[in-house]
Amino acid sequence: MKKVFSTLIVILALFGAASAQEKVQNVIFMIGDGMGLAQVSALMIENGYRPTAFDRAQSVALSKTYSANNRVTDSAASGTALATGVKTKNKTLGVDPEGAPVRSILKKAEERGLATGLVVTSDIVHATPGAFYAHVDNRSKYEEIALQLSDEDIDVLFGGGMGYFNKRKDGQNLVKKMQAKGYTVTDRWEEVEGLSKGKVAGLFREFGHLLPIVEGRDSLYLAKATGKALEILSNDNPEGFFLMVEGSQIDFEGHDNDLPALLAEMRDFDRAVTVAFDYADQHPGTLVVVTADHETGGLSIASRSDDFTAAESGLSYRFGTEDHSGTLVPVYAYGTEAGQFRGVMENIDINRLLTRLLLGE
Ligand SMILES: [Zn+2]
Repeated sequence: MKKVFSTLIVILALFGAASAQEKVQNVIFMIGDGMGLAQVSALMIENGYRPTAFDRAQSVALSKTYSANNRVTDSAASGTALATGVKTKNKTLGVDPEGAPVRSILKKAEERGLATGLVVTSDIVHATPGAFYAHVDNRSKYEEIALQLSDEDIDVLFGGGMGYFNKRKDGQNLVKKMQAKGYTVTDRWEEVEGLSKGKVAGLFREFGHLLPIVEGRDSLYLAKATGKALEILSNDNPEGFFLMVEGSQIDFEGHDNDLPALLAEMRDFDRAVTVAFDYADQHPGTLVVVTADHETGGLSIASRSDDFTAAESGLSYRFGTEDHSGTLVPVYAYGTEAGQFRGVMENIDINRLLTRLLLGE
């Protein structure tokens, strides 16, 4: 009897240890802007079907991206949906359809004492990152969005757009304001590389986005920036963290209908996803969710030949639009509680599930 009891205690202890590990402490939310299934498929095809990070997903779902006033969303409305769990009107950022501010998962995590970060290849005041901290009726109010960002306490910010902080029409110097709050503000990646903790704003281009890869951005930029953000966030806070990483320019190249440039951005994003999945392998309690805000370009992967009974004679990548489309986008989950992401989801439900798993709200 005694032996049965002690065995039971060992089993219970093991269960206890396992369930303690299963709690989500860290979330890495990765958004491929404009990344539909065709974009992921093109990456896999052009990689010769060698495994990509997306092939490692432990659970997969599909997401409906429509906004509150348009079946084809823009990045402001879909960013708001993913950041806050509220569908809103195209063009508006961080507000509900009536214009009232809505809080993001990043903000809620910050209030609970978690470390937070935003890593993008666009400027840091663009729609997708902006949805995580700003509240404006028009996504183009970049100076206002920068002002709102300077009032936040997000630990890690990597992207472009330094000029919105120190070359403003209203003359305010937000770089000085952020430095006074303890931020290291720099436009040099080399300076960021030397950091391992503390608040940092790495804004690597004056106005506008980082260079597209085909125009000279380091093709390892997003992977390196993701790795550095993870290092800083894990050193800064034992409570855990929320990090959003965006492959921003998949969308831009989709608007340009430029497949080689789009593939270059997909490869950059793929390497960043690998960094995140590897981090989750090494740090139990980490959940990585990779999705898109919408598809861009209406990309299709057609055969060059009309004869579908023949062997393949090459592919023809065709774009159906220079704008966004209304197709479903994929959701890939990896790490702790990955299995919760499955089936056909509303984009807002991705946010709500992440919020529940990370913050219990
Ligand atoms: Zn777009």
